[in-house]
Amino acid sequence: MRLAAKGKMTVREIIFEATQTLEKAGIPSARLDAEVLLAFLLRCNRLAFIKNPDEAPSKKQLADFERLIARRAKGEPVAYLTGRKAFWSFVLEVNPSVLIPRPDTEVIVEEALSVAQREAWSNPRILDIGTGSGAIALALACEIPGAAITATDISSAALKTAQKNAAALKLDQPVVFREGDLFEPVDGRFDLIVSNPPYIGAEDFESLPAGVKNFEPDEALRAGQTGLEFYQKLIYQAHGYLAENGWLLLEIGATQEQEVRAIFEAHKDFYERVDVREDYAGLPRVIKGRRR
Ligand code: SAM
Ligand code: GLN
Repeated sequence: MRLAAKGKMTVREIIFEATQTLEKAGIPSARLDAEVLLAFLLRCNRLAFIKNPDEAPSKKQLADFERLIARRAKGEPVAYLTGRKAFWSFVLEVNPSVLIPRPDTEVIVEEALSVAQREAWSNPRILDIGTGSGAIALALACEIPGAAITATDISSAALKTAQKNAAALKLDQPVVFREGDLFEPVDGRFDLIVSNPPYIGAEDFESLPAGVKNFEPDEALRAGQTGLEFYQKLIYQAHGYLAENGWLLLEIGATQEQEVRAIFEAHKDFYERVDVREDYAGLPRVIKGRRR
């Protein structure tokens, strides 16, 4: 695609050409991506293209857009190109040090809220292990007034991003961020422990979409040979950090229900009321258990 070389072009023509380029590169959401990236660059809303299809961006804007489309054509996720991703009720800053938060992960937020409501906790202590962009912890901070939330990650770059996201939300009660391996940086007991841990096994990793495999952080995705490594550790260790009647909620991969249930079963002296919740595609997505 050589847009800048052509001189003046309307947004209609630009979007048409960029869509073709992305389609040729095998990007499934080509037109949407072209529009989102152009809107990002022109700092406008996609609707503006419908209202003013004959608007002509500057030469510099064309050149910048060409570079973004070239990166997208190589598979780089749109969210890394724009630096932001909508999650729950807000927009998070994202960069290649954090997993791009998935809509499926909103299901663990919903389940956490329904557990918190049923238990009628006041000022619950909540821990989010492997917070990444801060997605889960920040959604809970917005929804549960008075919650004391701690969020951890092993990646200092991810934590920096999460902290920026927290600051942008201007929360009433600050989230506490801690760096380290699983429970190592925290002490005390929690009413609710949530985690969307890495859960991709070695074989499944190879068949991930290129945009995920080549651009999202390995340490956010990979979980040993089987994908179960983190469940084994989290389910075993969380018991020592749960308050009485405290709940452990974990996101799981769509094919992992039986295996993760088996891990809870192996620790049945520790947990009761183990249950799985599906996501909106009808796939198992969240497993929970209450401390005995
Ligand atoms: N919670 C975010 C979300 O749902 O979008 C990110 C989830 S991502 C799948 C897993 C996160 O766990 C990554 O941010 C990764 O850096 C972090 N992580 C990986 N190993 C860890 C460990 N041993 N201890 C703590 N965090 C870890
Ligand atoms: N859901 C992510 C994916 O589709 C994986 C996230 C994780 O490992 N927790 O790749």
